[in-house]
Amino acid sequence: MTDALLTPTRLWTPRRVMITKSAAELPHTAEIVRRCVAAGVSEIDVLPADRLTGLRGESERETYARAKSTLAVVVAPPSALKPQPIPPSADWRIDLAKGCPAHCQYCYLAGSLSGPPVTRVYANLDDVLAPIATHVGRGTITSGTAERGHEGTTFEMSCYTDPLGIEHVTGSLAAAISRVGAGEFGPGASLRFTTKFDDVTELVGLDHGGRTRVRLSVNARDIGNRFEGGTARMPARIAALRALAQAGYPVGVTIAPIMPVPGWREQYGELLADIAAALTDVPDVDLTAEIITHRFTPSSKDVLLSWYPATKLEMDEDARSAKRSKFGGVKYVYPKDTMAEMKRWFSEELRNVLPAAQLLYWT
Ligand code: SF4
Repeated sequence: MTDALLTPTRLWTPRRVMITKSAAELPHTAEIVRRCVAAGVSEIDVLPADRLTGLRGESERETYARAKSTLAVVVAPPSALKPQPIPPSADWRIDLAKGCPAHCQYCYLAGSLSGPPVTRVYANLDDVLAPIATHVGRGTITSGTAERGHEGTTFEMSCYTDPLGIEHVTGSLAAAISRVGAGEFGPGASLRFTTKFDDVTELVGLDHGGRTRVRLSVNARDIGNRFEGGTARMPARIAALRALAQAGYPVGVTIAPIMPVPGWREQYGELLADIAAALTDVPDVDLTAEIITHRFTPSSKDVLLSWYPATKLEMDEDARSAKRSKFGGVKYVYPKDTMAEMKRWFSEELRNVLPAAQLLYWT
């Protein structure tokens, strides 16, 4: 806790904000601009058309730096508005934005985003949220299931972004949480997202109605410190988890991506103990856990090595097991014995240290 107070996380403030012509006309854009001006962004440009230009630099490095310091305000295309099933996390995925300003060397987005890694926030927020009304009551992951039916119909908002990391310059999350919390989409609609950021000041003041589950993405100390650039440090994330639980949010921990680094049992043991200590005096915590082991694909490895050429992240195919999907793709996971040992250890530790946590899945 003390670390978090001594070193507050620096909020990401884009150097440049680009607004496409179509986005400029939408009401949520005015809120984004208001927040960006308040955050001190001086370069806010409305583009003459809808194409983003000027993102490429002279080198890969420059392109990366330029894209990561830019916020593009765009209109989500119809293809991005169709909710997709998103097992094992939630019934459906909805996206407030695509891209993330942080610098995690294993970033989950590496295999799924094309072009310079700019953060695009969607200005047509009403269109983004509209499918909640049409899909509530439908789905196979939580809706109507014995284990997770009490969660309602779940909509995951962090598949393509870290929504809290960009919230102070977008406001999309507060709007979504408040509208779902007020029951605009019916009592069965639930939002969820996971984050590596800690600025929850605005969120704790919202009328969330218990309809948004916020999970903090946490990891062993060495992994967080070495590989998760531009995010909040672990004690700050755990402090945010506590503040959200105190504010009555259903909460959770996404322990990911777990890696069997030297001393992993001790480090993950400390992590779980810190979480337990932070929640010990919060009454009636509704807590879940999701555990995801590290994996990579040939294309995510290529992209990550182009973004982080000096990374020390282990992505050695020979040290992994290849897992083929039915569509012919391959991903590299830890070998069977390592997986079994980590699963055994985590299941037991969770039971002992965080008995209140419902383990939603291990993958
Ligand atoms: S916080 Fe998540 S989305 Fe952002 S860089 Fe890290 S892994 Fe990628």
